[in-house]
Amino acid sequence: MGSEKRILIERLQKDWKKYWDLDFFKENNFLRKKCKNCGKFFWTLDPDTELCGDSSCVPYSFLGNPPTKKKLDYIETWKTIEKFFVKNGHQSIKRYPTICRWYPLFFTVAGIVDFYRIANNKITFEFPANPVILSQPCLRFNDIPNVGITGRHNTCFDMIQQSSLWDGKNGYWKDKCIELDFRLLTEAFGIKKEDITFIEDAWIGYGAFGYSLEYFVKGLETGNAVFTEFEGDLNKFSTLKEKVIDMGAGQQRLCWLTQGTPTNYDVMYGPVMEKMKTKSGIKYDEKFFLEYSKYSGVLNMDEVVDMKAEMAKVAKILGVSTENLMEKIQPLVALYSIADHSKALLYALSDGGLPSNVGGGYNLRVIFRRALNFLEKLNYPFDIEWVIEEHAKYLKKIEPELMENLGHVNQILDIEKKKYKETKSKMKSTLESLIENKTELNDEKLIELYDSQGITPEILQETADKYDVKVKIPADFYAKVTEKHLQEKRGKEEEKVDVSGTPKTKKLYYDNEKLYEFKAKVLKVECENIVLDQTLFYPRGGGQEPDHGSINDCEVYDVEPYDNVIFHRVKNPNFKVGDIVVGKIDSKRREQIVKHHTATHLVNMSARILLGNHVWQAGSKKDVDKAHLDITHYENLTEEQTRKIEKFINNMIKKKVKVKKEVLKRSVAEQKYGFVIYQGGSIPETTLRIISIHGIDSEACAGLHVDNTEEIEEVFIFNTKKMQDGVIRIEYVAGKELVRETRERIKTEKKLEEEHLEKKQREIEEQKGKIKKLKEKSKSLFGVNYVDTEDMKEIETIAQESVKEDSTKCSIIIGNGVVFGIRGKDCKEDVLNTVKEIAKVMGGSAGGSGNEFKGGGPLKNKGREAFEKFKSQKL
Ligand SMILES: [Zn+2]
Ligand SMILES: [Zn+2]
Repeated sequence: MGSEKRILIERLQKDWKKYWDLDFFKENNFLRKKCKNCGKFFWTLDPDTELCGDSSCVPYSFLGNPPTKKKLDYIETWKTIEKFFVKNGHQSIKRYPTICRWYPLFFTVAGIVDFYRIANNKITFEFPANPVILSQPCLRFNDIPNVGITGRHNTCFDMIQQSSLWDGKNGYWKDKCIELDFRLLTEAFGIKKEDITFIEDAWIGYGAFGYSLEYFVKGLETGNAVFTEFEGDLNKFSTLKEKVIDMGAGQQRLCWLTQGTPTNYDVMYGPVMEKMKTKSGIKYDEKFFLEYSKYSGVLNMDEVVDMKAEMAKVAKILGVSTENLMEKIQPLVALYSIADHSKALLYALSDGGLPSNVGGGYNLRVIFRRALNFLEKLNYPFDIEWVIEEHAKYLKKIEPELMENLGHVNQILDIEKKKYKETKSKMKSTLESLIENKTELNDEKLIELYDSQGITPEILQETADKYDVKVKIPADFYAKVTEKHLQEKRGKEEEKVDVSGTPKTKKLYYDNEKLYEFKAKVLKVECENIVLDQTLFYPRGGGQEPDHGSINDCEVYDVEPYDNVIFHRVKNPNFKVGDIVVGKIDSKRREQIVKHHTATHLVNMSARILLGNHVWQAGSKKDVDKAHLDITHYENLTEEQTRKIEKFINNMIKKKVKVKKEVLKRSVAEQKYGFVIYQGGSIPETTLRIISIHGIDSEACAGLHVDNTEEIEEVFIFNTKKMQDGVIRIEYVAGKELVRETRERIKTEKKLEEEHLEKKQREIEEQKGKIKKLKEKSKSLFGVNYVDTEDMKEIETIAQESVKEDSTKCSIIIGNGVVFGIRGKDCKEDVLNTVKEIAKVMGGSAGGSGNEFKGGGPLKNKGREAFEKFKSQKL
C-alpha cells in the first residue's frame, strides 16, 4: 500500500462516523469490527466473525461450495446485474474502447476511466447518463506474472461499472450505492447476508480522492465502491460540487462465486476453456488443483515479496515439494494464461491497438510472446488464432464487432509472429553477451531490455539460469514499466513563461482564415518579444508552423503561445507599449501551410480507411515547404499502398468536399463523432473545435484549414519511411506549384543518386582491377624494393601480399616520397629501423606498431636514391 493512501486512511478513520457510518448500516444493524489478522476495519452482520473476509485473512471458502442459489454463465452474470440495475433506475450503456483515447492512459484500466476527462489541470467526469451501469472490458498489464497462478489475476477482464453523479438533487450518494450493491448480492444472487463484509479503504487519483468500501464474500473481493468526494491532494483539497459514485466489480468474480470452480479462468471464457482443455489433452489432478486454488489467493506478487517462498509455503500445506507443485500446476497455468492473453489481444487489436515498441504497444507484444512461449514449451496442438476465434464466437451475442474484426486481428498477429521469430535468436545472444560481459542487471537495465527488445523477465530468467547467474527481478516489474510509460504519456512539463498579469490575446484568425491584415494595440515589448491585445498571427501549435509577416514593417519571424498569451518575435521593433500597430501576415506562406494542414487530415483519413483502424496519428508537422504525418502501422508502406493513398486523397480533392469547422461541447462532440476525434491525443478542454471532411473524417483540431478540399489542388507523397517499430512517416507536399517543383526535384535527385551509384560502382571495379594487377606484380617482393608510384595504398598492398607468400620474410617497398615495411608474422627482423632510415633520406620520418610500419618525406625524387642505398641491406 502506498504511504499516501495509508496516511489518508488513518486520517479518515479518526472521523470514521462521518465517512463510513452509513444510514444503511445503522438501519440494518451492521457491526463495525477490527480484523484480528490484518487490523483493517470492516462492517458485518455476523456477530461471530473476527476476520475481515479478505483472501489474505480467510482462504477462499466458496470453491466447490458456491454461496449462491444458482450457477450463472459468464454472459448470464452480466445480464443478471444489468437487469437489476436497470430495474433500479440505471441506464445501461455500450462499452467504451479498450484503447483509451480520451484521457492520458494507453488502456482503459477500469470502468470509471470511461468518464475521466481533464480540464484546468485536474480530473473531471463526463457521464453520458446518470446513474449508469455497464460492463467495460479493461486491460491491465502490471500483473502479467500473476496471470494463471493466483486464480484471479487477468490482463483482460470485464468490469461492472455502477456510477452516479451526486449534486444533492440528481443521482445518488453512498447509502443508496451500498444498499443497491447489498441487494444485488442478496436478492439477485441469493447470497446470505452474513456472508458479506465491507472493508474500509481509500482511493487516491490524479487530482481527486475519496474513501471506499470494498466488499467480500467468502474470501473473494466482489466489488469496490469508491466515494470520490474531494478534489486536490491530501495537503490542499475541497469538496467536489458533484460527488462521484465509482463502484467497480469484476464480472468474472461474481460469476466465479456462483460456480465455485477452482479458478476464475474456468468461468470467464464461457465454453472456450473447456474446449482448450479437451484439445490440449492435458491431464491434471482436479482434486489437488482445487486444494491448491484455496491457498493460491495469497500468491500475489504485488503484496508478496518473495514468490518462491510463498509457493514453498503453499506446497508445504499441500504436502508436496515446491518442484512437484510447479510441475502439477504448470499445464493449467499455461492454458489460463493463453486464454487470458488472447482475449486481451482480441479486444486491443479490434479496438485499434498495435503490438510495437512504443507506448502501450509494448504490453501487447509481451503478452503475445508470453502466450507463444507457453504454446511452444508445452507443445499444445492449437494456435493463438484458434483461441481468439473461439473467444469471438462466444462473445458474439454481446460484441458482434469482435467477430467482424477477426481478419484484421489475425493479419496483425501474423506479422507480429514473423517479427518475433526474427528477433528471438537475436534476443538470446543479446542476453548471453550481457551476462558474459557481467553487465549489472539492475531494475533500470531490465526495463531498458524490456522496452527496447521486448525481453521479458521470464525469458531473461531462463537464460540466466542456464549460465547460473543470479538475476533479481523486482516483484513489481510490470508496475514499474507501466509507471514509466505513464509518465512519458503525461509528458514533460512545458517551458514555463510567466504570463500572469498579461491579458489573454484575442485570436482573430478563427473568425476569418483568409484575412491577412489587422490593427492592434501593443501591450508588452520585451526585447524582441511583443504581445498585442489581438492578433491574426497563428502561433506554433499542433504541428502547424507559425505565421510570418510584419508589424509596422518590422519583420515577425516567430510566434509562440504561452497560456493563451501570444508572443510575436519581431526584429528591431520600432514601436512602444500603447501604440496602435498594423500587422500583416505573409499570405503566401500561410496559404501553403494551411493547404498542408488540411492535406494532413486527408492523409490520415485515407491511411486509416485503406490500411485499417489501427492507424492513428502519432505526430505531424505542417511546414511551408513540406509536411509529414506519422501513423501507427506495422511496416513501411509499399509503393502500391502509397500510390493508393495518394489517389484516394486526390479523389477527395477532385470531389470538392466542404470542410466543416464547428465548436462543440466535448461531450457532444464525442457522441456525434466518437473518440476518433482525438487523433492528436486527449484534449484538456471542455469545448472542442472539430474539423470534418465529408462526414468521413472528423478531428478535434485547433489548426487553420481550407474551406473546400479543392483549394489543396493536388497532393504528392514523395517519401515514406519507418521511424521506429510501429510508427511510419508519410512525407508529402500539397498545391499544384509545390507538387510540380517537388516532383522535378525528386526526379533530379534520383538521377543524381543513380549517377553517383554508377560512379561508385565503376570506382570499385577499377580498384578491384588495380589490386588484381598489383597482386600479380607483387609476387615474392621480399627485402627492399622500389615501385615508381606516390600512392601509399599501392605499395602497402604489394608489401602485404608479399609476406602472405612467406611469413618468415619481410618486405619494404619504397615509392616516391613514401615507404612501407611489413614483417611476416614469423619474421623477427628489425624492419622499423630500416624504414625510418629510408624516410630520413626522403627528408621525413616513419613509425608504426606491430608488424606494419610506414613513413615518407617531402623529397619525392629521393625514392630511387634511397632504394639504391638500402637495396642490399640484409634483413
Ligand atoms: Zn483482515
Ligand atoms: Zn489538424
